[in-house]
Amino acid sequence: MSDISRVMTPMQRQYNEIKSQNKGSLLFFRLGDFYELFYEDAELVSKELNLTLTSRHKKSEYEMPMCGIPYHSASKYLARLTKKGYRIAICEQISDPKLPGIVKREVVKIITPGTTFQDEALEARENNYLLSISERQNMFGVCYTDLSTGEIYATCINDYNSLKNEVFRIKPSEVILPKTLFSGAELKQFLTEELNISVNIHNGADHYQTIKTHFKVKNLEGYGIEEDTIIIEAVGNLISYIKQTQKNEVSHINILHRYTDSEFMVLDKQAIRNLELLFTLYDGERKGSLLWVLDQTKTAVGGRLLRKILLEPLQDKNKIQDRLNAVEEIIETPSIIEKLDILKNTYDIERIMAKLNCNYSSARDLVALKQTLSVLPGIATVVKSCKTTYIQKILEVFENPVLKNIYDKLDTALKEDPPLTIREGKIIKDGYNKELDELRKLMNGGKEWLARYQEEEKKRTGINTLKIGFNKVFGYYIEITKSQVANAPDDYIRKQTLTNGERFISPILKEYEQKILTAEEKIVELEYNLYQDLVTDINSYTVLLQQVSKSIAVLDLITSFAVIALNNNYVKPEIVDDNSLVIRDGRHPVVERIISSDEQFVPNDIALDTNKVSEILLTGPNMAGKSTYLRQTALIVLLAHIGCYVPARSARVPITDRIFTRVGASDNLTKGQSTFMVEMQETTNILNNATDRSLLILDEIGRGTSTYDGLSLAWSIFEYIHDKIQAKMLFATHYHEMIDLANNLKRSENYSMAVNESADGVIFLRKVKQGGADDSYGIEVAKLAGLPDKVIERASEVLEELEKNSRKKEGMREANQLSFISPTVVEKIVYKEANNDAIIKDLEGLHIDKITPMEALIKLHDWKKRYQKKGFT
Ligand code: ADP
Ligand code: MG
Repeated sequence: MSDISRVMTPMQRQYNEIKSQNKGSLLFFRLGDFYELFYEDAELVSKELNLTLTSRHKKSEYEMPMCGIPYHSASKYLARLTKKGYRIAICEQISDPKLPGIVKREVVKIITPGTTFQDEALEARENNYLLSISERQNMFGVCYTDLSTGEIYATCINDYNSLKNEVFRIKPSEVILPKTLFSGAELKQFLTEELNISVNIHNGADHYQTIKTHFKVKNLEGYGIEEDTIIIEAVGNLISYIKQTQKNEVSHINILHRYTDSEFMVLDKQAIRNLELLFTLYDGERKGSLLWVLDQTKTAVGGRLLRKILLEPLQDKNKIQDRLNAVEEIIETPSIIEKLDILKNTYDIERIMAKLNCNYSSARDLVALKQTLSVLPGIATVVKSCKTTYIQKILEVFENPVLKNIYDKLDTALKEDPPLTIREGKIIKDGYNKELDELRKLMNGGKEWLARYQEEEKKRTGINTLKIGFNKVFGYYIEITKSQVANAPDDYIRKQTLTNGERFISPILKEYEQKILTAEEKIVELEYNLYQDLVTDINSYTVLLQQVSKSIAVLDLITSFAVIALNNNYVKPEIVDDNSLVIRDGRHPVVERIISSDEQFVPNDIALDTNKVSEILLTGPNMAGKSTYLRQTALIVLLAHIGCYVPARSARVPITDRIFTRVGASDNLTKGQSTFMVEMQETTNILNNATDRSLLILDEIGRGTSTYDGLSLAWSIFEYIHDKIQAKMLFATHYHEMIDLANNLKRSENYSMAVNESADGVIFLRKVKQGGADDSYGIEVAKLAGLPDKVIERASEVLEELEKNSRKKEGMREANQLSFISPTVVEKIVYKEANNDAIIKDLEGLHIDKITPMEALIKLHDWKKRYQKKGFT
């Protein structure tokens, strides 16, 4: 034994032992009413949570820094720590502290960001996913679960890039990797630095067996993963991690959903971000996103489902049709919507079932479950008349007679208003359990007895002020005022002297006290056991109750879609088998809701057909509405695929396998993303993966480099997509030179945003018209933006000069098409205003006849930069 361990108390030794078994976790060590943290844990947590750091054995060489968190308010501290990515081991006292010797302690749970149950750490309308990844030769197995709801999904992914997109879509709060994968720096860096996810290593053993045992199945054929070793590894590792942290059966995770990427439209990171599906590009807020417009759900389960399906647009026409038909049915009977307001009276029973299965519940959860069950018959009556298979299925679940049995069980057992904890009784109704009733009678009888005893003692002693009281220190006592203390009988034993009197106990009183206290203790114990039995019983209905929850969510979702369609004037899209997209009077679902009230959203048409016009080149000034038009087209296509009505007068939508978006560097508002390299990588991804079933939204690509590079790239990318991919594409650009390209390609057409020129400048009509834009109106837009008149005037002069000398709009057909700015113009402009020695010197040494137009332009660019730097602008 070392010196230190010799002087350690038994408790310290116990602490050290448990800590050494839980090295990667902060150890919450239960001491009475507190969780204590020691040593480095204490130092770290006191800093993170702003708590006071104290210490044991102060100033000695065995000093033990510590900080404490009250047991009853631990939840919010735990939530704050897991949000910061910490793992916490909860160590409880598991033997009776009253027994002699040191209290036994054991880690009962490990709480991590992906396995938390703290209300403060969970968003009601968002899942909290834990994700597991496995790898073999650049193929990835992926499995993710939400422990707080019981959902579990698995798939296989063929390349690293798709893996990154899938992780972005799932947005887990924690990822577990086997050691080999963890040591690969790139993935770890992507997860921790780019996505800010906490990453842990876990290597479970015998994955196949783990999965079989957990799901209680003979083999994995039913889940379609029998042969998929890579998925088996991801799933097995996930399950073993959960069991290790929860330290109990997580039976509410009971149905493994194997999915493939062909089931859903692929939405990569760019599409999710650029289309602002969940949050805006500008400030990352939910307000202003598509989800913000769509979310009219009344329940947390409905809200979660909406968020999920928004990123899982369906590929199966029949499934889409089923959802749309259900929405239509509700729209046709709008009174249903009003009546379904009772959905509000349901609780989140998906999360309640998870809590019950993981030992996190309180009696209030069971009461909430009962309340929810009591609402179901009402909901069933409302949708009884609905004929669509979708709603019929929901109805079938709500009308399952077993639900009534569950309700009755809860109703006969539970009091209406039980306390938050399950360790203080007051949970179980009278009449539920005979033994409990008798103990309660004894306790209440005891109180009557006390009253009677007080009267008897008053008579016997003649002390009329004598009264019986209770406190925590001595239990029951007899109190006598000062003036009458002398009359206290001999069998009274003095316990406490007060200013106005004395407190006594008597043997008879003590005997009764014992009886009452034991009854009370027994009641608490018995209620606790009855509660646990009830939980075990309810847990056996987990699958059914999860179906109920799912049905509530689906009904809420469908109703929400109906509400939006009615309020915002959406139409049912027609899902077509051919490959032609036709939208009449389409609108942008978000922009139409947020433009100021004196403006009207101007609807626009679009028709894209792989065999006719599949690519549109859209030109027009800044602010004319190009980006809005592009995005609204993508959003309408997406909405149709999730079975939602769309903002248009009519829409024919073909099944679309992917929506790609690429927003040019300078159009992309988020900083740090805007390098030209990133833009080109994303474009590569599009060119490699798009098909003739894809929809491409390319907004100002090629902006992040010099004009001519950018134009050339935009040009050849457009051509490639037209010739090789034949995807439906909307291509917005400020390179007017490309108008000729679109005119010449077979399946491409030019469109532009209409503007009105007037004496005061331009007016944007927001209307898309056939043909390219003839002017970019840059200076007019700058004027609208309020640039000083002097600058505007000067810009107009420069422009005039440039235009006079340019061979305008000859496009790129000729080899020297880029030479529309002649060197003489450059000379003139620079001489006129620069008055800058260095530039003039440079100019003097320049042989204008010898340089190419491209070199001239680069020079000009260079001078302009220097000129601006000198502060002449
Ligand atoms: P561009 O991409 O051409 O620069 P945007 O699409 O960003 O233009 O549109 C600029 C602004 O014009 C939008 O923020 C919106 O307020 C308004 N806008 C765009 N399209 C419409 C429309 N169809 N109807 C009404 N306002 C629109
Ligand atoms: Mg734009």
